[in-house]
Amino acid sequence: MLKGKNAIITGSTSGIGLGIATALARAGSNVMLNGLGEPAAIEQARSLLAHDTGAKVLYHPANMLSAEQIFDMVRAAEAKMGSVDILVNNAGIQHTSPIEDFASERWDAILSINLTSAFHAIKAAVPKMRAKGWGRIINIASTHALVASIHKAAYVAAKHGLLGLTKVVALETAEESITCNAVCPGWVRTPLVEAQIDALASRRNFSRDEAAVELLSEKQPTKRFTEIEQLGALVVFLCSDAAANMTGTALPVDGAWTAR
Ligand code: NAD
Repeated sequence: MLKGKNAIITGSTSGIGLGIATALARAGSNVMLNGLGEPAAIEQARSLLAHDTGAKVLYHPANMLSAEQIFDMVRAAEAKMGSVDILVNNAGIQHTSPIEDFASERWDAILSINLTSAFHAIKAAVPKMRAKGWGRIINIASTHALVASIHKAAYVAAKHGLLGLTKVVALETAEESITCNAVCPGWVRTPLVEAQIDALASRRNFSRDEAAVELLSEKQPTKRFTEIEQLGALVVFLCSDAAANMTGTALPVDGAWTAR
């Protein structure tokens, strides 16, 4: 379905990003991976995905804290793949703390990686999407783009900001064949959430399994984690012709978290 398309997925050396890259490559798109990690492990993931899907799979090490490196990543993708048709802004980090103790450096890092990096990547990719007359921009936001939780000041602010950015880009590209949408997952069991499960387990003296159930019970009425594959399938759908007139939306995949 996506044969001939070329995609960048930021933060795709792990978790949701790697799952989305896998889904896009399986749908026929070439992909550029990005993210932090051990070079040998990244190369192993890259070559495995290329082998399994037959897609061209590249990797760029841009740090999402650097505008210059983000521009370089987009230029490199255009040069090596021919275009950036699909841009998935997924890189993100978390830090939890009461507001009065929230370290200013953590605030700055979360705003840069979870929000500002998407601005730089979109700014760099949109001109060529306009020239080509086709584009799909998908921002991996969160339920925390729609509602808040305690101790997540920076994350909630960044994700609400990312939804605002999504809407502006959708309006600015509305008359072209470019769409910009936000996917808003609830709890997904990735390294980012495993850290929160560990913290809850040690705070409340729970086993890890008990902590995972407690985490779900508190927020996610289905009491089931959202699966990475479900998010990958949604991103592929957003790249399809069926979604050509869906733009500027926020799509919760949250087991009814935001229904109450
Ligand atoms: P993860 O920790 O598994 O993956 C995060 C990715 O971002 C990794 O590839 C990491 O290397 C990359 N990254 C971090 N800092 C970076 C930097 N400075 N430069 C480049 N890459 C960097 O986490 P995940 O759960 O897969 O999260 C992916 C996205 O999904 C995030 O934006 C997160 O906020 C969002 N999200 C996650 C959940 C969840 O429950 N896991 C829920 C809602 C939204």
